[in-house]
Amino acid sequence: MIDYFKNVWTWFYTILLGMRITLKHLFAKKVTIQYPNERYPIPPIARNRLHLDPERCNGCMQCARICPVQCITVETIKVVPIDPEKPTMFDGSPRKIWVPRYDIDFAKCCFCGLCTTVCPTDAIKHTIDFEYSSYTREGLIYHFSNMTPEKIEEKKKLLAEWTIKEKALKAEKAKQDSNVSSNEVN
Ligand code: SF4
Ligand code: SF4
Repeated sequence: MIDYFKNVWTWFYTILLGMRITLKHLFAKKVTIQYPNERYPIPPIARNRLHLDPERCNGCMQCARICPVQCITVETIKVVPIDPEKPTMFDGSPRKIWVPRYDIDFAKCCFCGLCTTVCPTDAIKHTIDFEYSSYTREGLIYHFSNMTPEKIEEKKKLLAEWTIKEKALKAEKAKQDSNVSSNEVN
């Protein structure tokens, strides 16, 4: 009989003990929030999704070279002297390279920040955006170039045209130089 009451008391005491801990946490300061209705403030120096400003990018490819996981793909087209557009950079200096493709695969990016460190024009920067999940892997590949397919085609044609012209000019110059040297010998 005594054992019976002892067991009842132990059962009751255990419940009280458990409820004491529950009650303590019920009135304690909350450390969790109701995401996504509430959000913690993100520090401005947080290394989340990257953003490229195409106007500042000069196509130097330093970011792609230093990226430890090769998640940056950059394609470039040389700006040729016959380009009537005479493109300029954000600071007014002449643009030497077009950037028809600048892709970042955020499924591979490890947010090390090396690309932002080496960029000479501050074109690539981390943002505080961490909410960019996607149902597909392709959805995590961001295309930053602002060139249209028509413009890319036009610039490729200009480059091909200029390459032929440049070759002809070089051949002409070499011919003139050899004529000069043969005249000097005679
Ligand atoms: S943060 Fe690091 S891993 Fe991500 S793109 Fe830049 S260099 Fe590559
Ligand atoms: S983002 Fe910066 S480092 Fe990368 S290609 Fe553009 S200018 Fe060069």
